[in-house]
Amino acid sequence: MAPPMSTAIAIDLSRARQQSVVQIAARENVNPLVDARFRLLSALQTSLDIEIILDLFRKELDSVIRVNGFCYSNDAAGIQCQLGETQVHHCAYCLITQNENLGEVIFYRDTRFSEYDMDSLEVLLSTLLSPVRNALLYRQAVAASLTDPLTGAGNRQALKSQLGREINLSRRYHQPLSALIIDIDKFKLINDTYGHATGDLVLQDLVKVINKVNRSTDLCFRYGGEEFVVLLGNTDKAGAQAIAHRLCHAIADSRIWSESGLLQITVSIGVATITELDSDETLLNRADKAMYKIKSQGGDYVAWL
Ligand code: GH3
Ligand code: MG
Ligand code: MG
Repeated sequence: MAPPMSTAIAIDLSRARQQSVVQIAARENVNPLVDARFRLLSALQTSLDIEIILDLFRKELDSVIRVNGFCYSNDAAGIQCQLGETQVHHCAYCLITQNENLGEVIFYRDTRFSEYDMDSLEVLLSTLLSPVRNALLYRQAVAASLTDPLTGAGNRQALKSQLGREINLSRRYHQPLSALIIDIDKFKLINDTYGHATGDLVLQDLVKVINKVNRSTDLCFRYGGEEFVVLLGNTDKAGAQAIAHRLCHAIADSRIWSESGLLQITVSIGVATITELDSDETLLNRADKAMYKIKSQGGDYVAWL
């Protein structure tokens, strides 16, 4: 059996242009490649969804070259997408434009790739560059539209759509769902005493502490100025109370480094667990009421309704 083959090639727009289809066309049996390239050029324009684009690419690839699978990954964008299976032989391509790394594509096969196979893969890969770039830009734009720019937490729009999804999941799988509303105690005093920039720092630090204490599946959103919501999927009342207490203590114990010295904050946390009658609004309203209940008793604690 031939030894496993591993190749890594950078493919960029200029190289892709140089890769003349005419050159390839001079070879035998080339029409499927030229046809596939033209079909891809138009098909890949039809979506901004990276997974759909890769799926369309895979289908056209099959009409030209047999591969067992391929993988697209982009660490910076947090994307890892595998279609088909991995095999012992593989060749890897970095997709790059003038100054952007668009990720890496690896093709897998149970037999070695010939020079001609790799030339053909490059021709087809050149059709991926612009669609992948557009899809990545679109993903960034969507993520930015759902993120609070100051703290990196989800914004209200993200909360609305995620809460709708979580409620559906909870109903379909008969799982509990809880929500926490976390409000900083006397936050205005921090702004008034140390300035707005320090207030901003406090908000950023609070989200860091929340994310550190939470499970990676617990999602944090900025609900208003100094109010945050944490959604706890598959978490009942007792579990949510435990998490809320843990958060409350972790926040009171943490210290924030600022130009004015070490700062300390406390929060009031309201907890609500979904009932059959709840909508997204009523669930958050109950958490809010619970939060105000504890706030009226001096804050720095947890209450539930
Ligand atoms: P309580 O203990 O009752 O919750 O009082 P509080 O001072 O925390 O709440 P209040 O609603 O009186 O004040 C909230 C302050 O948060 C007022 C507003 O200027 C400030 N704020 C809202 N958004 C931001 C922001 O993005 N950055 C900063 N630094 N301050 C903000
Ligand atoms: Mg407050
Ligand atoms: Mg508030």
